[in-house]
Amino acid sequence: MVQWASNVADIVGHTPLIELKHFVEQAEGSVATVLAKLEMFNPSGSSKDRVALQMVIEAESQGLLRVGSTITEPTSGNMGLALAVIAAARGYHCTLTMPDTVSLERRLLLQRLGAQVILTPAAQGMRGAINKVIELRTTLPHTWYPQQFYNQANPRAHREHTAEEIWEQSAGLVDIVVIGVGTGGTLTGLAEGLRAHKPSIEIVAVEPATCALLSGGRPGPHRIEGLGSGFIPDTLRVDLIDRIIPVSDQQAVETAIALMKAEGLSIGISSGAVAWASMQEARKEQNRGKVIVAIFPSGAERYLQTILFDDLRGRS
Ligand code: PMP
Repeated sequence: MVQWASNVADIVGHTPLIELKHFVEQAEGSVATVLAKLEMFNPSGSSKDRVALQMVIEAESQGLLRVGSTITEPTSGNMGLALAVIAAARGYHCTLTMPDTVSLERRLLLQRLGAQVILTPAAQGMRGAINKVIELRTTLPHTWYPQQFYNQANPRAHREHTAEEIWEQSAGLVDIVVIGVGTGGTLTGLAEGLRAHKPSIEIVAVEPATCALLSGGRPGPHRIEGLGSGFIPDTLRVDLIDRIIPVSDQQAVETAIALMKAEGLSIGISSGAVAWASMQEARKEQNRGKVIVAIFPSGAERYLQTILFDDLRGRS
């Protein structure tokens, strides 16, 4: 039997789960086992490939997409790359709007993947990018707007796939899952999917300390890309959360740096935040002998222009 994939959509998911032995030893005080789900192994380099694919498949089955349609989404983040990849794989156009502060690298990569990038004034924030998509939809023929913060295919991707993978890879031993919250799709899907197998599984939400809405705080600026959108999205079920851990930019970055060296794993800033929160859980006496799964959404290369590398550029 041949073992090749027929196209890039076929290699979404099935990411590795790996024990963080050295990192946990060096961080000291752990009484639990910490495993990391490495979502940077997806084709565009983040967990968003799963969501982009699920949203596209569901839109196709509802007749919202046909060959030649244009996918439009406001996003300066990982969802843009994921949509560009899935659009290329399935023969759609892709037009992304984003504030003009987006890095040159990101823009060039999106364009190479065939996406059209439309920049909006940074002063207007994401609102400017959202308004641009709404405007485009009146001019472009056959557009489809996936809306990752509202689309229930987002949590469904994680409930049907990521949760099942973690359940199988951990042989049902998983006790606690630590998840950063952006759209909340990962948290909602994993909580629903894993608790269907084992209702006692505990769900720990991670959010930026300076934008800690789940902890009762107010929206504020932070540097943990992908987390803390500043509002409670439709794709997040707050009732599924057992504990919330706010993490500072500095804690996220320092932990990502320590983990990269300890394990030889290139991880992004939100993964650093999740790793820091996972260590807080791993040190609790009540979690002795438990298995903690930390979700790492993306890899370090995406963040070369950010605080993750500031010290090496001599800017700190
Ligand atoms: N980290 C990164 C780097 C991300 O891109 C995202 C998704 N925006 C998240 C964490 C959070 O995932 P979710 O949207 O499922 O809450």
